[in-house]
Amino acid sequence: RNDRGGPKWLWRSGSLVPWADARIHVNAVGHASVASVFEGIKAYVSHDGNRLLAFRLDEHLRRLYESARLVRIDIPYGVETLRDAVIEVLRANEYREDVYLRPWAFPAGIVQEQMVPAGVSCELVVDSWTFQSGLGTERGCRAAVSSWTRINEASMPPRVKAFSNYHNGRLAMIEARENGHDWPILLNERGKVSEGPGACIAIVRDGVVSTPSTTSGILESLTRETSITLLRELGHTVVERDVDRTELYLADEVFFMGTGWEILPVTWVDGLKVGEGEAGPVTRALDAAYHSVVRGRSAEHADWLTEIPF
Ligand code: PMP
Repeated sequence: RNDRGGPKWLWRSGSLVPWADARIHVNAVGHASVASVFEGIKAYVSHDGNRLLAFRLDEHLRRLYESARLVRIDIPYGVETLRDAVIEVLRANEYREDVYLRPWAFPAGIVQEQMVPAGVSCELVVDSWTFQSGLGTERGCRAAVSSWTRINEASMPPRVKAFSNYHNGRLAMIEARENGHDWPILLNERGKVSEGPGACIAIVRDGVVSTPSTTSGILESLTRETSITLLRELGHTVVERDVDRTELYLADEVFFMGTGWEILPVTWVDGLKVGEGEAGPVTRALDAAYHSVVRGRSAEHADWLTEIPF
């Protein structure tokens, strides 16, 4: 990492540029940022330590194009170019640790336009940084149901991974922290559980895993989809349905799932201990299966991994 805390290189609109030189005009942080969309992708060091494995890269890139379509900005690059850009960033920075990748698109050349018009061309950046994985470690968090309502399809569709959507999660997070909790759980406009500010959520009750459906006001999370697949392979019943707030209080296990948070056990909800107050058996089994897949230890799901040899 360079002396300003970033990596050496990032990819910007067609080529690698030194991270410290990747500047934008000050106007770009105002109205233009309202129409900015992004992705969060992880590349894990393989179990044998000789390569990076980008997890579900193509699916993340597909979601980036979907987000751009929904906010009506045009990404002027094809998916091959973006896949190559991600690989170039990993190689150029000579990473030998787990890496979080942040591709994002923002309208180019918007200076005074308050309502960014549809169809503007955009710039594309792929930034990256290293992170410490929590997979396979003993952890848990205290969550609280937020007094803020999740944004919804009729106003700001949560399906879009837009920076502006995070205003909602941020308000909820600040409230949770002020009240001594780690993370909020947001209810949707119908009062049903939706998700956390940066991850989806599931409960386990009497051995059945339930998670809010993709029409409950959530991001179409790849970790959620991955978790559903892995849990079913482990023999668990997984149901996608409305989840009530009080089910959180009666659940044997609750966990968040997301690229950033990975599989994060919720050990307290609104001051009530979940199960024994530590990660339960289903959450632990999912964590282990996910860990094994992302590090390429599992023979299954090799198609989810893009290999970048050291
Ligand atoms: N919901 C929100 C609001 C998020 O920000 C994220 C993280 N991208 C997720 C869910 C999880 O999505 P994914 O598993 O695709 O990272």
